[in-house]
Amino acid sequence: MSGNLLIVPRRQPWAPHTHVVFELDDGRDLRFVDPRRFGLIDICPRAGARAHPALAGLGVDPIAEGIPDGYLWTRAQRRTAGAKALLLDQHVVAGVGNIYASEVLWLARIGPGRPARRLGPDGARALSLAIDEVLRFAIDNGGTTLRDFVGAGGEPGENGEYLLVYGRDGTPCPRCRTKVRRRVDQGRATYFCPTCQKR
Ligand code: ZN
Repeated sequence: MSGNLLIVPRRQPWAPHTHVVFELDDGRDLRFVDPRRFGLIDICPRAGARAHPALAGLGVDPIAEGIPDGYLWTRAQRRTAGAKALLLDQHVVAGVGNIYASEVLWLARIGPGRPARRLGPDGARALSLAIDEVLRFAIDNGGTTLRDFVGAGGEPGENGEYLLVYGRDGTPCPRCRTKVRRRVDQGRATYFCPTCQKR
């Protein structure tokens, strides 16, 4: 959401809502700025970090841990909710938010409302690969700028320019040229190609 970890020169004035400051050995600060107070900083032994109550319920981390072969299908096959809901469930895979869910589904050619249990092993594998690709690409490009997201140096991310379907309703699908559509489920927008994403 809207909190940030920023690495800035120590002389830089503290931004409003700076809650924690770590003074780094190189003279810069690592600052935790969190206007909406959704974030949390706690201190715990590294060995037990994954068991911390804030992390214990999270699903697999696709970048740090990688999604194991077959994992997503195991988690999907009894779920009646759609593929998009599966992606957004942080107990299954951690770190895919609303923007990247649209990108992942488009890349995997899967309609957002396709029931998770109908993905099949191949569909689930396609989703796993797409999660990896979309998140790595986004990180390489500094994250997505939506309202107030900024990178560690305070610069806006550039990935918004590289989004393939999110926010692009009415423009041609990059794969088949059908116009990208937007729909809203539970107050959240989904962008998809009605032709090349299978329901
Ligand atoms: Zn298409």
